[in-house]
Amino acid sequence: MDLTFTAAEEAFRQEARAWLEAHVPRTPLPSMDTKEGFEAHRVWERTLNEGRWAMVSWPEQYGGRGVNLIEWLIFEEEYFRAGAPGRVNQNGIFLLGPTLMDYGTAEQKARFLPRMAASDDIWAQGWSEPNAGSDMAAIRATARRDGDDYVLNGQKTWCSRAAFADWIFCIFRTDPASERHRGLTFVLVPLTADGVKVRPIAQLDGETGFAEVFFDDVRVPEANRLGEEGQGWTVAMATAGFERGLMLRSPARFQNTARKLVDLYKRHAAGADPALRDAVVRAWMHAEAYALNTYRTASRLIDGGTIGAEASLNKIFWSELDVHMHETALSLLGARAELLPQASGAEDVGTWLDGFLFSMAGPIYAGTNEIQRNVIAERLLKLPKG
Ligand SMILES: Cc1cc2nc3c(=O)[nH]c(=O)nc-3n(C[C@H](O)[C@H](O)[C@H](O)COP(=O)(O)OP(=O)(O)OC[C@H]3O[C@@H](n4cnc5c(N)ncnc54)[C@H](O)[C@@H]3O)c2cc1C
Repeated sequence: MDLTFTAAEEAFRQEARAWLEAHVPRTPLPSMDTKEGFEAHRVWERTLNEGRWAMVSWPEQYGGRGVNLIEWLIFEEEYFRAGAPGRVNQNGIFLLGPTLMDYGTAEQKARFLPRMAASDDIWAQGWSEPNAGSDMAAIRATARRDGDDYVLNGQKTWCSRAAFADWIFCIFRTDPASERHRGLTFVLVPLTADGVKVRPIAQLDGETGFAEVFFDDVRVPEANRLGEEGQGWTVAMATAGFERGLMLRSPARFQNTARKLVDLYKRHAAGADPALRDAVVRAWMHAEAYALNTYRTASRLIDGGTIGAEASLNKIFWSELDVHMHETALSLLGARAELLPQASGAEDVGTWLDGFLFSMAGPIYAGTNEIQRNVIAERLLKLPKG
């Protein structure tokens, strides 16, 4: 295996670096879990799109650059290196976008992808329900056929960014007699439709990063169905593969955190505590290992391979790594770790506490790690069902 980048890839890196250095906002944007911050992030997404950097691996006709996944990974490395803002439309560009490419009709691709790239439409994901989280096949929200429309009823919950988003992609039960993962259908719903009610939920940090979404006789046309009626589970599993396997958490994010952790260690505890030193080294090594493994996955996909149940290994790895890195940072900072960055005496506590609180969600969202372990046991190790 040749781990060096080609001249073309290096040129791509330089172009991305120069553009980001010229365009990344100098001061951090307000949190995207506030209305003001959400809109500020939308403006940033538009800037990215104007430079054709919103999703570099998409075809040019939809606003991308048509580059391969290796170049996407390079772009991500430059993105985190530049300290660029979080991606408010990540559910759209990283999850629904690739699913639309695989399952959408030509009309759906033309209708949704350019607006997604421009963040004219920011997307939320509506899969979980109060009684269907880990057990997603227990979904009870319904989509009833009425002429050329579907009539939607029920409730979704824990929908990230739905408090301010424009659209939501959901799974509904279209066959009332069906059970489990049969009879489900993937439907795209404008959050402005009559009968949709969005109720924000505050997170651990007090901001409304989540919402519950209620559907009360909401009408959407058949043209908003992605894939065939009854094929919802298959389409959703493709989305979940992108989410767990590759797109949602690129390695650059963790390499960037690992670099900051090494820096924190050098400033605060160099040589003081061998256990902390080992924890820092382990974080750095695991971030590098995750990067190499992701390059391997990307190479396999470029060669026509697919992401299967091994996406679950990936998801456990990055979510546990993120918790480990933030716990280590808090240990390095000691009691000061609990100070907010603006508190007197906070010095360089930065956003470690905030990052730690969010890292706690990693083993839960995108399917809990217990569920990923079940998937690994049954589908990769072929162990009997528990
Ligand atoms: C930050 C964050 C963002 C999220 N964003 C979204 C979003 O945008 N859209 C969306 O639809 N959902 C979202 N979710 C919801 C998330 O997908 C669910 O929380 C998750 O799937 C778990 O479901 P649950 O909360 O109902 O817990 P439950 O399913 O009730 O699980 C409770 C506990 O039991 C364990 N458990 C359950 N079943 C088993 C089993 N068979 N074997 C072993 N252990 C089991 C679980 O691992 C968990 O520890 C988000 C969650 C978080 C934390």
